[in-house]
Amino acid sequence: MNTTIPAPAVALVVAAGSGVRLGAGMPKALVRLSGRSLVARSLDSLAAGGVAEAVVVAPAGHLVEFEKAVTDSPIPVRVVPGGGERQDSVQLGLSALDSVDGPVLVHDAARPLVPARVVSAVIEAVRGGAVAVVPVVAVTDSIRRLTDEGSEMVDRSTLRAVQTPQGFDPGVLTRAHELVRERGLLVTDDAAACEAAGHPVTLVAGAAESMKITTPADLRFAEALLGD
Ligand code: C5P
Repeated sequence: MNTTIPAPAVALVVAAGSGVRLGAGMPKALVRLSGRSLVARSLDSLAAGGVAEAVVVAPAGHLVEFEKAVTDSPIPVRVVPGGGERQDSVQLGLSALDSVDGPVLVHDAARPLVPARVVSAVIEAVRGGAVAVVPVVAVTDSIRRLTDEGSEMVDRSTLRAVQTPQGFDPGVLTRAHELVRERGLLVTDDAAACEAAGHPVTLVAGAAESMKITTPADLRFAEALLGD
């Protein structure tokens, strides 16, 4: 009987953005959603989906507040300082990871309500051999592309909106970020870094609850989802 225990999944929670669009006067990840900070809720959600430990990448000037915010996390957490762009923060988080064999998940703290089923689907896809995995949802709005003349319709049936956590083979993710840095590319997510390095990106089902909290209206919508 094969009783090999899979290597644990670890998460990088990127939370070093300023969150100016939320207008809370503090880093967005420290804002409370129904009494619990976005970063603490993100850690709860990742743990519920099978993540064993996490590194939180926080704004360099707010490390103590973040340490405090994650003290009651259900999984062990380290807090490290982030950088100017999201990809800088991911790279700093990756360099803080000790040798990792299992899946590495990169999650935006701005998505605190990701369901456990999405987290575990991402982990299982990486364990099944996918090197870069993203949760996606169909686009429900009609979409128009701006052109020199004005705008034109886009066929939304072929579009998907990308969420986090995204899951990766640890070596593939680290090398992809090295390549992005060497080439001076700007990417908005980590799957894009892996794609730039020539790797296939695997899609799994995301969820409406994984919405990204950007504006005060998003925060109220998330409170409504929690029933508050
Ligand atoms: O700016 P955007 O909404 O794309 O940020 C997505 C996530 O990346 C947020 O959780 C934010 O805190 C994080 N981020 C970061 N370091 C930056 C910019 C954004 O960790 N320099």
